[in-house]
Amino acid sequence: MMSQTMVRITCPNCRRPFAAPLEQVLDVEVDPSAKARLLSGQVNFVVCPHCGAGGAVNLPFLYHDPSKELAFVFLPMEAGQTDLERQQVIGALSKAVMNQLPPEQRKSYLLNPKVFFSYESLVKAVLEADGITEEVLEARRARSELLRKFLDAASEEERIALIEENESLLDDDFFRVLSATLMDLEAMGVQDVVQRLREVQQLLFERTAVGRRLAARAEALRALSEQPTREKLLELLIEHEDRETREALVTFGQPLVDYFFFQTLTQRIEEAGDEEERKRLETIRQQVMEVRQKLQDQARQVVESKVALVRDLLATERPELLARRRLADLDELFFSVLGAEIERAQREGDRETASRLEGIWKLTMDLIREQVPPQIVLLTAVLEAKEVEEVRQTLEDNRPLVDESFLQLLEQVEQQLREGGDEQAAERAAIALEVARSMVEAKPKEEKKPPEKKPPSGLEIARR
Ligand SMILES: [Zn+2]
Repeated sequence: MMSQTMVRITCPNCRRPFAAPLEQVLDVEVDPSAKARLLSGQVNFVVCPHCGAGGAVNLPFLYHDPSKELAFVFLPMEAGQTDLERQQVIGALSKAVMNQLPPEQRKSYLLNPKVFFSYESLVKAVLEADGITEEVLEARRARSELLRKFLDAASEEERIALIEENESLLDDDFFRVLSATLMDLEAMGVQDVVQRLREVQQLLFERTAVGRRLAARAEALRALSEQPTREKLLELLIEHEDRETREALVTFGQPLVDYFFFQTLTQRIEEAGDEEERKRLETIRQQVMEVRQKLQDQARQVVESKVALVRDLLATERPELLARRRLADLDELFFSVLGAEIERAQREGDRETASRLEGIWKLTMDLIREQVPPQIVLLTAVLEAKEVEEVRQTLEDNRPLVDESFLQLLEQVEQQLREGGDEQAAERAAIALEVARSMVEAKPKEEKKPPEKKPPSGLEIARR
């Protein structure tokens, strides 16, 4: 893709030249991490390989979010002296993004992108499109500031005083910031800070209303995961009045919410000792039905979006371009929807549609294969082989891939399959391991024939 360009830069620190890849088009559909890079100020941030000095290069770029129809151009003052020069820059960027799009996605908002002269104002506009206003940002800042004060506090008394002074800030948002920060710090491996923050969290769980509610919710979910039965779910729903806790329980315990669950609940309602208990149980039944409906609606929407993608792929003049842009959506569900569409076309005797859908199956499957590391493709092929001779042949055909790391991969898989109780598959892995090991041991002596270039066969995404 042409969203990057190599640019020669002279380091402002050591004056030596170097080349760096700079981004001109940030498309969040093609590259979902582009948004995070933009928001954290990392776009076109370069480090000089000679002296290590780093900084952002003020190069114009276009930020594109198709789902929100956002086309924003960052146009620093350096980009053009005259109005005409600036218009040319904007025109070139807009053309670059258009060329990456299938025709039906080339919409008019792209011809007239909104221009920002400072990076900060562009970031603010992107956040505003997410519904994040200046007030929300201010509130976030206040919460991170409070979190920092908690970390700096020298004693438990000081922390308790902070809790009492900042009651209004200690809400759900604060706890979200807290647990996100904890995860970041854990990933960074700063153990002492993590430890201190855990103490803060524990104190907040005990001493704030929101904290007690969240702690109770976590406890309820833990109890259900330890004993995932209909009876336990019902018991926990009765025990916890908090609406969000009930929602979390039903979401987590969704497979338990079936005909028998409602039968038990209805029976309990009929047998209720007094009016109050009956009302409480009826409220629970109502809430469970609402949550279940919501979950079913969400699931249906996901399926509908896959059906729409299949239709779009049939309709577009450039299916490969569209499929590449929607790579993240080509999952197991997509292929099961596509498979069902193929079967339906065949059943209805619509040969033309069936064959075009099969073309889309091949195209998208090839795109998926491109993403899979070749050793994994080989592994899948080997495990699907029916007999030892086929295993040997498949490994021979892919000899360059059969090395020490492939042996380790096979060993791991064999162990996992055994632990998972799939003895048959584990046995196939063991046979493949034996054959592969003999090949690795024989390898340095001579290479009998050049490896064939044909792609390994056998990888199929499971259709359930
Ligand atoms: Zn330098």
